Amino acid sequence: MAKLRTGATSADRICSFCGRSGDMTKRLIAGPENVFICDECVEVCRKILTEEDHDLTMQFTGDIPRPVDIKEYLDQFVISQESAKRALSVAVYNHYKRIARPAATPDDVEIEKSNVLLIGPTGTGKTLLAKTLARKLKVPFAIVDATTLTEAGYVGEDVENILLKLIQNANGNIAAAERGIVYIDEIDKIGRKGENVSITRDVSGEGVQQALLKIIEGTVASVPPQGGRKHPNQELIRIDTTNILFICGGAFIGLDKYIEKRIVEHPLGFGAEDHNTKNRNMKELFDNLHPDDLIHYGMIPEFIGRLPITVCLEELKVEDLKRIITEPKNSIIKQYQASMAYEDVKLEFTEDAVNSIAETAIKQKTGARGIRAIVEKLMTDIMYDIPSKQNVKRVLITKDSVEKSEPPEIFELAKSA
Ligand code: ADP
Repeated sequence: MAKLRTGATSADRICSFCGRSGDMTKRLIAGPENVFICDECVEVCRKILTEEDHDLTMQFTGDIPRPVDIKEYLDQFVISQESAKRALSVAVYNHYKRIARPAATPDDVEIEKSNVLLIGPTGTGKTLLAKTLARKLKVPFAIVDATTLTEAGYVGEDVENILLKLIQNANGNIAAAERGIVYIDEIDKIGRKGENVSITRDVSGEGVQQALLKIIEGTVASVPPQGGRKHPNQELIRIDTTNILFICGGAFIGLDKYIEKRIVEHPLGFGAEDHNTKNRNMKELFDNLHPDDLIHYGMIPEFIGRLPITVCLEELKVEDLKRIITEPKNSIIKQYQASMAYEDVKLEFTEDAVNSIAETAIKQKTGARGIRAIVEKLMTDIMYDIPSKQNVKRVLITKDSVEKSEPPEIFELAKSA
C-alpha cells in the first residue's frame, strides 16, 4: 500500500467517501491510487466501529438463550447424547449469565467459572456439541488440539496460541474473543504417564496441564500475534481469559478400568449387590465417574479442579448413526440432496442403504466419523456422471450400492413419470 500522506488540502483532490474537495476539509489523508479520506469521514468510521463493538457487547449481555432453547437448538444438529446436551445447556447458560451480571459487590456471592470436560469415545459428537453451542450463542469459537501444545521453553506451540486462534476467529476483536468458547481436543493425551511419575520431568503431559491451568481459570494472557513461540521485545496481544468458556474433550480410553477398580474396592453408592462389574454398561460406569478416577488416569488435581462440570457422552449405536445420516438439519444426505437438486435431480436412499452405511461405520469403530467417508465414496461417481447426463430425474441409492459398489438405480424422465 502506498505511504499515507497527511495534510494534502488542495482543491483538486476529493474525499473518496463524501466527495468534498480538499479545501472544504481540515485534513485529507491519501491512500493508494488517488484515493483520499477526509477527517470527518475518519470520525464517522470510528463511530461505526465503536457502535459495532457496543452491539456485540449488548448481544452477550442482553439476550442469553435459556437452557431449554439451547437444548432445542442442539437437538437440531446433535443426535442422541440427551444427558450431555442437557448438562451443557445448563452449564453454558450459567456461564453467560455470570458474565452478564453487573460487577459484583464485595457482599455478593461470586459465581465461579464453570469450564466443562467432555468425555466420550471418538466420533460421538464432542466437537460438534462445542461448535453448535458457539453458533447458538453467536460467540467466537476455536478448536485446538492439546497434543500440539508444550510447556514454555520446549519445542512446540506455547499454550497462549490457543487464544490466538480465538482472536483470529473473532476477526481481531479482543472484546468478542474474551467471551468466546475454546474447545481443547485430545485433553486426555496430556495426562501424566503413569500415576507415580515425578522424578523425571514430563514435558508433554504435566507441564502442559500446568501451563493451561492459568489460562483456563482466568488470567490476562500475552499472545504473540504471529503465533509460534514468544520472543523478547515482541509486541504481544493482551487478552483476559476470565470469561472465556473452555470446553475440554477427550476419549479417555481405559478410564472405565479406573472407575471399575475403584467401585470394586469401594462399592458404596454403586448398584450395591452386583460387584461383578463385567455386565455393567459403560453409561452406568461413567455416571459414577469421580474426579479421583481422572487423577489416576494422569490428570493433575488442580487441572481437574478447573473443570468442574464433567459430561459423559455415550457410544453411538446403529440406530443413532441411521438418524445422524438422515435427520440433522445439515445431515450428509441432505447436503448431497441439495447439491443434486441443483442439477434438478432427486436423490434418495433406501432404508436398507442407510442401515448398511450405519453398520459399515459401526464396524470402523470411529463413531459417526466414518459416515462422511463412506457416503462420499458412494457418491463420487454419481456426482461425476450426473451433470453431463440429460433427462435424469431421480437417483436411488440401494443397499447393493453400499455393500457391493453397484451403480445406483437411475430414473430418467420417461421412466419416472
Ligand atoms: P468427537 O469430537 O467426539 O471425536 P465429532 O464431534 O468431531 O466427534 O464428530 C465427527 C463427525 O461425526 C461430526 O462432524 C458429525 O458429523 C458426526 N457426529 C458425531 N456425533 C454426532 C451426533 N451425536 N449427532 C450428529 N452427528 C454426529
